[in-house]
Amino acid sequence: MALVGIARLAAEGPLLEAKRSVQYFEIAARSILNRTKPTMPFQWTINPYRGCEFGCKYCYARYTHEFMEMAPADFEDKIYAKSSSALLLKQELRKVAPKDHIALGTATDPYQPAERRFGRTRSILEVFARESGRYLGITTKSDLVMRDLDLLCEIARRNVLGVHITITTLDEKLARLLEPRAPRPELRLQAVEKLSQAGIRTAVFPNPIMPGLTDGERSLDRLAKAARDHGAEGFGGGPLFLMPSAQAVFLPFLEEHFPRLAPHYREQFETSAYLDKSYKDELRARVERIRDRYGLATGPIDYRPEIWLAEEQPTLFEM
Ligand code: SF4
Repeated sequence: MALVGIARLAAEGPLLEAKRSVQYFEIAARSILNRTKPTMPFQWTINPYRGCEFGCKYCYARYTHEFMEMAPADFEDKIYAKSSSALLLKQELRKVAPKDHIALGTATDPYQPAERRFGRTRSILEVFARESGRYLGITTKSDLVMRDLDLLCEIARRNVLGVHITITTLDEKLARLLEPRAPRPELRLQAVEKLSQAGIRTAVFPNPIMPGLTDGERSLDRLAKAARDHGAEGFGGGPLFLMPSAQAVFLPFLEEHFPRLAPHYREQFETSAYLDKSYKDELRARVERIRDRYGLATGPIDYRPEIWLAEEQPTLFEM
């Protein structure tokens, strides 16, 4: 069968580097900004990579490799860097209204290991550093974000910037099982602290919250307290959902490491990718309660960037 669309582009992409069992490719991108559905809290997304080497067992984005006619496991072994990311962004930003929110890193992590080699995320931030009046949110599990502190500070002076660091658990052993190649939770907390100290607005997101694994009041409380103590302003949090491509990896993982939980998950996700409403309501109330306990917002708090403020000052003397 002849491959078409994104599957054809993936098959044609030149091999850039093979590292252990991970292979890096370049893929020709037609566009870098994607419009979201009206129900989303942001209007545009940017994902400089397809696939993610961190290999989180619950990762929902595995389905994106299915579009390229690949198996869910290929998601963490075949990584595609989008070509001409910065150039495309420069062109496409013209169609973005000033009040629109742009989210970087919604499907794959923009600071995954491939970023050290290809720098696509940094090239995108260089474009934003020359913009003003934009709303940008970045989501990552990696302390590599600290490499770009210079650019983040420049962007934050001219635009509203928030950085969301995902930490599902402070339990190192559990984190290693769930997120085998992602930086340790402690390193992520250190990134929250350094970003906050540099004046960057941050939030910790414990997403996805997993029943029986990370949803306990005590562990979420510990995480929220650590977030607050390291300077985060926000603590988001939403429940796990598992599409069939994610189930194909997560359910066997549970059977191997948490056999007592596996039947409950199988039952829950047999007919739907989502957990039932009563669980979601209870979890929402738990997260809100914890958030209130530590005076945290749902995310980084909006602010008026320095440059906007300067522009708003009345001119004293006409020259
Ligand atoms: S860091 Fe995000 S994109 Fe990467 S594997 Fe984990 S959940 Fe998926």
